[in-house]
Amino acid sequence: MINGKSMNFNSPTEKYIFEGHTFYLKRDDLLHPDFSGNKARKFYYFLENDFPNITKIISYGSAQSNAMYSLSVLAKMKGWLFEYGVDHIADYLKENPHGNYKSALDNSMQITVDQGVPTPASDILYIEEGGRQKEAEYGIKILAQEIEDWQKENDIKELNVFLPSGTGTTALFLQKHLSNSKVYTTPCVGDAQYLEKQFLMLEKDDAYHPSILTLDQKHHFGKLYRENYKIWLKLQEQTGVVFDLLYDPLGWRTLLAHPEVFSKPTLYIHQGGVLGNESMLPRYERKYKNEELIDENILQ
Ligand SMILES: *Cc1c(COP(=O)(O)O)cnc(C)c1O
Repeated sequence: MINGKSMNFNSPTEKYIFEGHTFYLKRDDLLHPDFSGNKARKFYYFLENDFPNITKIISYGSAQSNAMYSLSVLAKMKGWLFEYGVDHIADYLKENPHGNYKSALDNSMQITVDQGVPTPASDILYIEEGGRQKEAEYGIKILAQEIEDWQKENDIKELNVFLPSGTGTTALFLQKHLSNSKVYTTPCVGDAQYLEKQFLMLEKDDAYHPSILTLDQKHHFGKLYRENYKIWLKLQEQTGVVFDLLYDPLGWRTLLAHPEVFSKPTLYIHQGGVLGNESMLPRYERKYKNEELIDENILQ
């Protein structure tokens, strides 16, 4: 078992080249085998501090979310119960548990379907979907500090930072605490307007808001796109790093469509989520793998 005090929360930063662009990669996917990525940063506050009255975490969201899995780990570490609400669980997932869902069940998550909003109580810690809440600032500020320390060590004065967004919580608090860097992001859930609204809920002063970059085409979260699968395969081929399949493909497609970002040293934040690939990858392979093989055969 781990606890906050024994955890080394300084993830390495490595240098790579992708499609001819040199970039640095902050490996938050390597923070800890069970507690990694931006969810570990967001929930770090709860790991580090004592909550003597709390006996249970309650949260909600999708049945395969990275936040759900990270909360199951947090609850286990703290000796708390963990109750998680979903609208719906696909029959296939119920019959063949895998990925984040299986791992969270293994950590004793209790799942409830369509139970509505729970009644607040002093022994319950209620966590918003995806960890969109002000306590996230605590761990993300530490991430910003690590980045600035690394900049100093490597004599990198100005930096462009890129990371794909869901709720935008990570990008927002990073921008707030990185004084010499510009943070760029792209909305993976909803559009730029939605993301701007999310920023405003956490921070009224838009001087602290990250810069939003987008592609022209509409993108639906969780849907399978040939371009996403292709760029994910290419990333692995050229860098050897496994990225997540839900956010990073759109992140990288957006970043490559805005090469001006690379005019300064560029840091991409790997926000973890690789366990979720267990459910996404088979879906992509069923849909596109044979097609790829056919393409290659035609080329030969
Ligand atoms: C949750 C998550 C995101 C989105 O983070 P936000 O702070 O909600 O914007 C991005 N990438 C990965 C891998 C995630 O798990």
